[in-house]
Amino acid sequence: MPYHSRWSVTIPPCTLPTWIFGSPGATLPDTDPIFIDAERPDTYSFSLHAYREWSQRLAVGLQNAGLKHGDRVLVFSENNIFYPIIFMGIIMAGGIFTGTNPTYLQAELAHQLRDSGAKFMFCNENQLKTGLNAADTVGMAHDHVFVFNAQMAAGGTIGNSCKDLASLLAPVYQASMFKWEEFDTIEDNRTVCLNYSSGTTGVPKGVEITHYNYVANCIQFIYQIELDPDEIRKRSRDRQICFLPLYHAMAQTIFLAVRPKRRVPLWIMRKYTLPGLLQNIERFRINDLLLVPSVLVAMAKSQITRTFDLSSVERVMCGAAPLGREACEVFEQLWPAGKINVKQGWGMTEATCSVLAWHPCELSLSFSVGEPSANCEIKLVDSDEAATEIRDHNVPGEIWVRAPNVMKGYWHNPQATAEVLTTDGWLKTGDIGFVDEQGKVYIVDRKKELIKVRGNQVAPAELEAVLIRHPNIVDAAVVGVTINGEEAPRAYIVPWKPMTADDVKEYMKQHVSRIKYLTGGVIFIDAIPKNPSGKIVRKILRDRAKEEIRSV
Ligand code: AMP
Repeated sequence: MPYHSRWSVTIPPCTLPTWIFGSPGATLPDTDPIFIDAERPDTYSFSLHAYREWSQRLAVGLQNAGLKHGDRVLVFSENNIFYPIIFMGIIMAGGIFTGTNPTYLQAELAHQLRDSGAKFMFCNENQLKTGLNAADTVGMAHDHVFVFNAQMAAGGTIGNSCKDLASLLAPVYQASMFKWEEFDTIEDNRTVCLNYSSGTTGVPKGVEITHYNYVANCIQFIYQIELDPDEIRKRSRDRQICFLPLYHAMAQTIFLAVRPKRRVPLWIMRKYTLPGLLQNIERFRINDLLLVPSVLVAMAKSQITRTFDLSSVERVMCGAAPLGREACEVFEQLWPAGKINVKQGWGMTEATCSVLAWHPCELSLSFSVGEPSANCEIKLVDSDEAATEIRDHNVPGEIWVRAPNVMKGYWHNPQATAEVLTTDGWLKTGDIGFVDEQGKVYIVDRKKELIKVRGNQVAPAELEAVLIRHPNIVDAAVVGVTINGEEAPRAYIVPWKPMTADDVKEYMKQHVSRIKYLTGGVIFIDAIPKNPSGKIVRKILRDRAKEEIRSV
């Protein structure tokens, strides 16, 4: 029997903009800021009304520039106060949003431009050189690249062959008459964004999230938070900080849709640094933290954390990668006993954002990630041929999910879609977990290839493709290893000519972004273990890596 959520909510068949703002002309009396530039809080902020108006201005501009319904628009930018407007403007215009990691190198960006077939690109000024080079690689005209920076509102100009974003914005009077298209999102299962994920195998693929998926997951998330009856009352004084990258499903869903809907002010940091985060928590009296394990552990371990006033913090959620209970306990000791109880959640890009979460009023004393959120069901499946369902408590198996927030499929990739989505709607997650007698879910391992480096996805297949292009490398395989509680990619290399581990690491630095560096080590071997059909047997390498690390 699958495990059903204890809760059920109604999901309206409306588009994402309508769910957040109501109809295009609806009165939004709220003038308090919901997005604030953490670096210049006095200068740059947007209220819910301004979020809608600026997005409408951009939507008109995009349509005038030639954007048609269903066209993809890629955003290549670090966090920025204008990021939410670009996200929403694309969607209001009828386009499909796709964001990338801002540290991507030219080839990585070109892959996503090409794969998504993006018609336009928004590029942060700091990433412009890479952006234009990648545009050249895929043949995107420079006048389809719009550049922006954090001074745009002040009318700053950015001289280049491409246009600046400000030049796209329609006048307010025109924007106020603009109506985004509203339709029945159940009847018309239209895609709203393509968030890239490698899924259970292979290179990153565009995960098609529909309006219905998005709205469903936001409603499920809010329902879960508001199981705490105090939360509705407290909402008016919630204050949050965003340092997680907005291109990733987790930050994007929670910060660009859930929080504005709840009208919670969000201070947006351009880049994460530990001192910067701590300073902002103290300065803006942040009370609600959404963390990833690497940041939680850094906060717990670092002495500088103890030099800041974190007394405003009331609630901490953590997800995106594995986290032990011990680290949570050290972290919780930063506050008086009993004040903070870290709640872990679990989700994946293929399920919009979140699936498993804690009831906010229950105490989490284990490494469990909670239970299925409203309208979600999960089951555990044995890895045998027949995919037998596991019905016993505490027996691990692959977690399968069926829920309204599960993706439509992988963009233009029916084969990859069929590998993870069953015909009766189950998503095979590639994560191994079990359920205890209380119905709480524990994640214990990962069956899929994916490596999570500080919460970011790293796809072994992508690194292997780069490695075997090296003239001295015959064959290569990459697996994740855990060193000091952090996942890192380790490469096994079959060399053609003599080379050192440093040669390989240096080569990778030229070809991939920082999160993909081989920080888990480079090991030379005679042959990569493969099955008769030529697939890498990663389990052998993972076991070998564990042994190697243990014996160091
Ligand atoms: P992403 O699609 O980038 O959000 O990555 C999803 C994957 O991150 C999941 O399939 C898990 O492997 C991992 N993950 C997410 N949350 C957790 C968690 N709380 N504990 C362990 N692994 C997690």
